[in-house]
Amino acid sequence: MLNVLLFGPPGSGKGTQSKKIIQHYDLQHLSTGDIFRKEISEQTPLGRVAQHYIDKGELVPDDVVISMIEEVINNNPKAKGFVFDGFPRTVQQAKALEQMLQRKKQSICIMIVLKVEKEELIKRLLNRSKIEGRKDDDSHIIQNRIKVYEEQTSPVIDFYIKEAKAFIINGIQTEDEVFKDICLHIDKFSKCK
Ligand code: AMP
Repeated sequence: MLNVLLFGPPGSGKGTQSKKIIQHYDLQHLSTGDIFRKEISEQTPLGRVAQHYIDKGELVPDDVVISMIEEVINNNPKAKGFVFDGFPRTVQQAKALEQMLQRKKQSICIMIVLKVEKEELIKRLLNRSKIEGRKDDDSHIIQNRIKVYEEQTSPVIDFYIKEAKAFIINGIQTEDEVFKDICLHIDKFSKCK
């Protein structure tokens, strides 16, 4: 199993790079944001809960996210590994993920952190709002999402640094250059269990 954790603030390019990674390594993409947006568009009970938080740029509560992830992992027993995109977003989620994977005799092989400065993130997200029309790419909500990343999500990096699994990549390069850097790191971990 090759479980990759793709990490970074909103607008750092996780979605774009995830697509390239899953194609190249034949992995399953697991984006919590995409799952929530699908649930919202289908107006499910989970979607209604998630929307309440997403519209404010807040995090959906850990227990909701963790049980949702467990279901996705259990429903994909044939996956050769996952690219986790947008999860874990808190240390509590990271600990829950470790336990979940341990029960399956698996682990996170590598964490890739995409580093992009705040001004560039804001520019990219405002540009995306014009193209995709995502409500949470509104300028006020963007500010809160970045603050939430800095305060609640970035401590997850230390969690994986302690395990010597985290690698920081310059996210202000062309898409292909970023992908090349990502592959250089993942290739070293391709025999991970
Ligand atoms: P994303 O598409 O990853 O930027 O996620 C969009 C929004 O979904 C976030 O701003 C959060 O409100 C919510 N969300 C996505 N993933 C998580 C997560 N792992 N934990 C809590 N909330 C999440």
